[in-house]
Amino acid sequence: MNINDRANLKDGNTMPWLGLGVYLLGDGSEAERTIAWAVEAGYRLIDTASFYKNEAGVGMGIRACGLPREELFLTTKLWNNEQGYENAIIACENSLRRLKTDYLDLYLIHWPGQDKARRLKTWEALLELKSQGKVKSVGVSNFKIHHLDEIMAAFGEAPVVDQVEMHPFYPQEELRAYAKEKGIVLTAWGPLFHGHIRDAKGIDAIGAHYGKTGAQAVLRWHLQNGVAIIPKSSKKERLIENADIFDFELNDADMRALGSLNNGTSYGGDPDQFTMGF
Ligand code: NAD
Repeated sequence: MNINDRANLKDGNTMPWLGLGVYLLGDGSEAERTIAWAVEAGYRLIDTASFYKNEAGVGMGIRACGLPREELFLTTKLWNNEQGYENAIIACENSLRRLKTDYLDLYLIHWPGQDKARRLKTWEALLELKSQGKVKSVGVSNFKIHHLDEIMAAFGEAPVVDQVEMHPFYPQEELRAYAKEKGIVLTAWGPLFHGHIRDAKGIDAIGAHYGKTGAQAVLRWHLQNGVAIIPKSSKKERLIENADIFDFELNDADMRALGSLNNGTSYGGDPDQFTMGF
C-alpha cells in the first residue's frame, strides 16, 4: 500500500485512504496554508463540513495549491439544520459556492438525527444531487447499523461511505464487520483519539518497534483494518508525520495490542442521542 492507493467505492468511484481533516482550522489563511503543506506531503483528500465554517478557506487552499481540481478529493457535509429534501439541495449549492468548485467528490449527511422521515428525504436529495453531477459520491456520517439498514430498505442501496468516530479506545468492531459485509467504506474521524492521544498509554512503545511514533502506529492500525483516515493537524511536521505511514506494517501482535486498548471511550457519544442543531 502506498500514499496514492485509493479505496474502491461501491458506486465505481475511488477515494484516497488518507485525507486531511480540517475541523477547527481557521477559515482563510490557516486553511489555505495547511492545505498547501498537506498537498506537498502527499495528501489528496480534504474533509470539511458546512459546520466547520471554513469551506471558503478550504476552497482557497484548493485553488492555490497548484494541483488541478480533479487530482484532489473534496468531501463536505450538510449540517443538521440543513436536513430535509429542499434544504439539502440548497445546502449543497451553498457549499459549492463557498468552496468555489463545480462539484464535490463526496457529500455526507453529518449526523443522523432522530427524525427518520426527514433523514430519508435528505438522502433522496443527495441521490438527486448525484444524478445532476454536482456530487460524485454520496455517503453518511455517524450512522449506526440501524440507520444504514433503513436506507437500504428504502432505496435498495447502501451509502458508499460512513464516516464515524473510531480509534483504539472505540474500535467499533461490529460496525466494521457489517460495513465489510455490505461493501461500505468506513472513514475514521478522531483517528488520533480526537485530540486525546496523550491518554493512550503504550502506543509509543508499539510505534518504536518500527522506528515510528505512536500516532503513526495508530494511523497504520486503521489502514490495516481497512478503514480510511482523516487525521487533523495544522502543524507542518505533524502533517508530514501523519502521512509517513506507508513504509511499514504492524505485525499481528501489535494490531491486537492496539485493538485491546478498547475501553468504550467515545468522544462524540451515541449518534442516536446527538440532537445539536436539529
Ligand atoms: P484527530 O483524532 O485527527 O486529532 C487531531 C488532534 O490530534 C490535533 O488537533 C492535534 O492536537 C493532535 N495530533 C495530530 N497529529 C498528531 C501527531 N502526529 N502526534 C500527536 N498529536 C497529534 O481528531 P479530529 O480532528 O476530531 O478528527 C479528524 C477529522 O475528522 C476532523 O478534522 C474532521 O475533518 C473529521 N471529524 C468528523 C466528525 C463527524 O462527525 N463526521 C467529527 C469530528 C471530526
